[in-house]
Amino acid sequence: MSEPSPVVLECRDLHKSYREGPIDLAVLTGINFSIRRGERVAIVGTSGSGKSTLLNMLGGLDTPTSGGVIVQGQSFAELDEQKRSALRNRTLGFVYQFHHLLGEFTALENVAMPLLIRGEPVPVARAAAQSMLERVGLGKRVQHKPSELSGGERQRVAIARALVAQPLCVLLDEPTGNLDRTTAETIHELMLQLNRELNTCFVVVTHDPILAQRMDRVLTLVDGQLQELQPDVQRDPLREDV
Ligand code: ADP
Ligand code: MG
Repeated sequence: MSEPSPVVLECRDLHKSYREGPIDLAVLTGINFSIRRGERVAIVGTSGSGKSTLLNMLGGLDTPTSGGVIVQGQSFAELDEQKRSALRNRTLGFVYQFHHLLGEFTALENVAMPLLIRGEPVPVARAAAQSMLERVGLGKRVQHKPSELSGGERQRVAIARALVAQPLCVLLDEPTGNLDRTTAETIHELMLQLNRELNTCFVVVTHDPILAQRMDRVLTLVDGQLQELQPDVQRDPLREDV
């Protein structure tokens, strides 16, 4: 047996509650899992089950009530905000449900931003941003500002921005939910290609069964806990060897 790939992201007994007046709303009640280099994971669950909450914790954007998240062996809880940001910039890419692009900047500038923050020279960052925008089919929209783009185009800019710095792991919250089927397919293909070429991990919250099927693992969030579905083959009644 070959060595298993290194763990990139890990959740240890993660709990999250929101305090609503006198009531504690327990959203996550003990999440444990790890993602290895190159893995593609789908997280599914009904609306309100805590998928976005979990994704925000995985990215160190929100603080757990207890337990922790470890990225590349470093616990978010042990870092100050500056070091947390640096770790995020080095290792993670984000695609939020709502694009969060900067309205004052063009598509090109928005996509170049993670590289500029990382300290890349401006021409290098701009060239990489141009090339990533071309890959998501927006080569002719690079000078447009978010308000001059359609919803689907804005989402594609956000995806280009998440991928441009070639992070180890990309966290996506329903990334293609608002896109037409053809554009969604283009984005899925791009994700799979980066996974093959660069061993990028993908953790994607999605309602799209086609996208979920293309991941290596599908985790379902139920009652604050993650359940891992076994691959279909193990449920195949015609197979006697499982
Ligand atoms: P999902 O993404 O699966 O639809 P969320 O993670 O957005 O679910 O929300 C899970 C639950 O946590 C919901 O019941 C929601 O109302 C609650 N919740 C989310 N964020 C907050 C918050 N900032 N304050 C209070 N409750 C919240
Ligand atoms: Mg959500």
